[in-house]
Amino acid sequence: MQLKFRPILLELRHPFRLATGSRTHTNAMLTEIHWHGLTGYGEAAMPPYYGENHETATSFLQRAAEVLLTHTMPQRLQMTEDYLQNIMDEIDALALGNHAAKASVDIALHDLWGKMEDRPLWQLLKMEPDNMPVTSFTLGMDEPEILRQKMLEADDFQIIKIKIGAENDREIIRTIREITDKPIYADANQGWKNREEALEIAHWLAEQNVRIIEQPFPKDDLDSAAWLSARSPLPIIADESFQRFSDLDKVANCFHGVNVKLMKCTGIAEGLRAVKAAKSRGLQTMVGCMTETSCGIVAAALIAPLCQYADIDGCWLIRNNPFKMPDLVDGKVRLSDKSGLGLKMRL
Ligand code: MG
Repeated sequence: MQLKFRPILLELRHPFRLATGSRTHTNAMLTEIHWHGLTGYGEAAMPPYYGENHETATSFLQRAAEVLLTHTMPQRLQMTEDYLQNIMDEIDALALGNHAAKASVDIALHDLWGKMEDRPLWQLLKMEPDNMPVTSFTLGMDEPEILRQKMLEADDFQIIKIKIGAENDREIIRTIREITDKPIYADANQGWKNREEALEIAHWLAEQNVRIIEQPFPKDDLDSAAWLSARSPLPIIADESFQRFSDLDKVANCFHGVNVKLMKCTGIAEGLRAVKAAKSRGLQTMVGCMTETSCGIVAAALIAPLCQYADIDGCWLIRNNPFKMPDLVDGKVRLSDKSGLGLKMRL
C-alpha cells in the first residue's frame, strides 16, 4: 500500500477565540492510501496546543509510508478489522505522540477498507445511523454583533457550543440568550481556577439551559474536576484531560464523561474502543473534533451513534474544505450510503 500526503492550511471562517488565545488557521495534513486502483482518504488536523505541525507530521508520515509499503496486500486478500488494527499497532509503535498524524493513517485505512468491500464504513463497523445524536455548532468568543452573524450561519444546528472560561462567562451566555434559546454545551477549555466559583457558575449555567460543561479546570487538576463533578448539577466532561484510551482509568472517577476526538486518540479504531470502554464504565460519551475538513468529520460521525453528545461541526467552521460538505439533516450529520467514508472532492 502506498501512502501519500500533503500539507494544507485550513482557513477559519472567523478567528477562533478561546480562553487560551486566538487563531485564524489550523495546520492539517491530507493523506491518501493507494491500493490496486482504490484510494482511501485521511486527515490530520493539528491545532497548535497539541504540539503537532506540518514538520512533525511530514517526518512521521514518511516513516509510516515505509511501514505501509511492507503491506503488499495482494488483490485476493481481504482487509479485516483485525488486519487494520495490526497495521495501526505498527504505526503507533513508530514514535510516541503524533496522534493526529496517526489518525490520518487510520482514517485513510478505514476509508480504503470500505472501498475494498464496496460498502459504507458504518455498515462494516455495525453502526446504527438511527442513533445519530444532533451535533452542536461552536461559537468562539466575540462581540455581540459578530455573534449574531455567526448564529445566522448556525441556523441549521439545534445545539450551540460556547467557549467560556474567561472572566465574563455570564455576559457571554446572556448575549447568546438574547439571540437564541437553543440548548448550549459550555466549554471552559481549562479556564476556571476556583472550585467554589466554578460550582456557583455551574448552577447558574444549569438555569440557562446549558446541558454540559467541558473541561472546567487545567487538564492535570483532576482533584478539582472530581470535586466539581461530585457537586455539579450539570455533567462535567473531560476533553484536554482525556487524550487516549489509556487515560480512561485516570479520568473515570473525576468526570461524568469523556470527549473522544479522533485526532487525540489516533483514529477510528481506538476511538471506537474508547467510547465502548467508557460506556461500559458508566461514563457519558461525546465525540468531538478540531477544525477539520469533511474527511475528519465524517470519520468522527462514524462513532457518533454510540455517543450521547456530538460536537462534529469542524468542516462548517472552515472556508477551504477540499471535500464536499456532509449532509446535515435535522441537525444531525448523515452517514453516507457510498462506499468507505463516502467522500467526494469539491472540484
Ligand atoms: Mg473542548
